Amino acid sequence: MHRNIDYGWIDVITSGSMYAGKTTELIRRIRTFILARRTAVVFQPSVARRYTEGEEVVSHDGLRLQARYVDNPNEILWYAETHRPDVIGIDEVQFFDDGLVEVVQELANRGHYVIAAGLSITSEGKPFGCMPQLLAIADNITNVYGVCVVCGEPATKAFALRPKTAVVEIGADDKYEARCRRCWLEGRRARGEAV
Ligand code: ADP
Ligand code: MG
Ligand code: ZN
Repeated sequence: MHRNIDYGWIDVITSGSMYAGKTTELIRRIRTFILARRTAVVFQPSVARRYTEGEEVVSHDGLRLQARYVDNPNEILWYAETHRPDVIGIDEVQFFDDGLVEVVQELANRGHYVIAAGLSITSEGKPFGCMPQLLAIADNITNVYGVCVVCGEPATKAFALRPKTAVVEIGADDKYEARCRRCWLEGRRARGEAV
């Protein structure tokens, strides 16, 4: 990670599993920049609101940081034009459409240090939204892991506790658990789901 940020950079923090520490790592990095007297702002898609009635990013174990909720990635660009923060954090990026990728590229080209965190795959194990493109343009990628709740091995997938009824279902431990590939496969096969 750079402290001297007079040029643009794209960090992506990702995992296939929920509960892997993406939001925790995003908050830690943003706080470090703030300690280093950089200006920083964090965004999150409104659709991903969890654990709060306000506007903040909240980790599964309760770390929180003030954030701005947006519906459209262009709102991030407009905010950056007027406020010119050194560092821009974006959590739950997988929920944005492909427009997010161009926005992140443009922010970095304008000299911002962007830290984007998101799930790389859905609970069906398919690439999630804009993540493949975002990972491709990243200057640095950090992959993090959860703990498989069945066997304790590193978790790389989110297992939906019940068959999903919508393409996107926002939830936490009421809906998903962290699993390794083997335990994820076993769970899906037991329900006759595609793997
Ligand atoms: P993410 O943003 O990747 O979903 P968070 O940073 O919000 O993850 O949460 C990480 C925290 O989740 C861990 O520090 C831990 O306290 C908690 N947690 C709950 N279940 C698990 C699990 N199965 N594996 C790892 N961490 C878990
Ligand atoms: Mg998170
Ligand atoms: Zn397992």
